[in-house]
Amino acid sequence: MILVYIEEPGELTQQALAFARRLGEPLQAFAASYAEGIGGVDVLHLADEEVFSAYAPAAIAQGLVELVERLSPSAVVAAGTERGNEVLAHVAAKLDLPFAANCTAATPGDPFLVTRVRWGGSLLEDAHLHAPVKLLTVQPHTVAPEEQASGDPTVERLTPTLSGEDRIVQVVDRVAAAAGGVSLAEAKVVVSCGRGAGSPEGFGIIEELADLLGGAVGCSRAVTMAGWRPHTDQIGQTGTKIAPEIYIACGISGATQHMAGCKGAKAILAVNTDPEAPILASADYAVIGDLHEVVPAISAELKKARAG
Ligand SMILES: Cc1cc2nc3c(=O)[nH]c(=O)nc-3n(C[C@H](O)[C@H](O)[C@H](O)COP(=O)(O)OP(=O)(O)OC[C@H]3O[C@@H](n4cnc5c(N)ncnc54)[C@H](O)[C@@H]3O)c2cc1C
Repeated sequence: MILVYIEEPGELTQQALAFARRLGEPLQAFAASYAEGIGGVDVLHLADEEVFSAYAPAAIAQGLVELVERLSPSAVVAAGTERGNEVLAHVAAKLDLPFAANCTAATPGDPFLVTRVRWGGSLLEDAHLHAPVKLLTVQPHTVAPEEQASGDPTVERLTPTLSGEDRIVQVVDRVAAAAGGVSLAEAKVVVSCGRGAGSPEGFGIIEELADLLGGAVGCSRAVTMAGWRPHTDQIGQTGTKIAPEIYIACGISGATQHMAGCKGAKAILAVNTDPEAPILASADYAVIGDLHEVVPAISAELKKARAG
């Protein structure tokens, strides 16, 4: 049996379920609150305590540890998000087991052969994972999501025994991001800008183009470090991983850490004044020019085409 940690319903969860199903064993799942659409899973273990839905990584890990001890799964799988990786790292520490984060593939056996993303996406590593229970997270957007299977699972309540330490870190407040409706991680179009924006005001033309295309606005770390945009807009190794149909990257050099976040884009259009900028090596299309002229020109053409 494979145990899947369901952080929240959505595409990344469906990717983790697809990955887990390929391991060829029945699935059970653990979630902090009832997750619609988790089909094809025999049992859904639901945590009873409020601390779980508030997100408390060590407490969630304790719930998984108790299930591992009771059910002896051959593997525990979660999405390779910040939270998925954090929770499984706690599980690994509690059980004193190795943990393979950000896997793109796994061949079951003893040991498991896993392929995983290292160094912010610049390296794929093949590794043997020796452990009685394999702990794995799935690199986002490297596995096709599972179609939502029909059939509701049997729901079983779980009340883990939590220590004071398990409750030390938990979310106590949430501040909604100022950004509009389209989520960066799931947007089909992302228009992004780096230091080339020149100032926070430089994002006005980026927002306009994103708006016209029904997309989301992103940025590089140079921008968040300068305080021009919030961290929720950052794309990259230490930001959001995106997988849009098209990624329009303006005034962004294309550092390895930035490209780690947009590897999943189906196509990249770079707008840059420097014909030698590293991003051009990954771009499908490029406009060599000043973004302050090129971006408004694209928006103007779009408006003209729509008016006509
Ligand atoms: C541990 C670690 C983690 C990191 N994580 C991330 C991360 O998650 N995301 C991330 O983005 N970075 C990350 N970085 C930082 C990364 O290494 C780069 O420093 C950063 O991505 C650079 O941002 P940038 O491309 O906006 O700026 P720059 O490298 O300064 O590039 C600016 C680009 O804009 C172009 N330009 C300038 N003016 C214009 C104009 N008017 N029109 C068009 N083009 C113009 C220039 O030619 C240049 O190519 C990380 C670094 C470390 C060490």
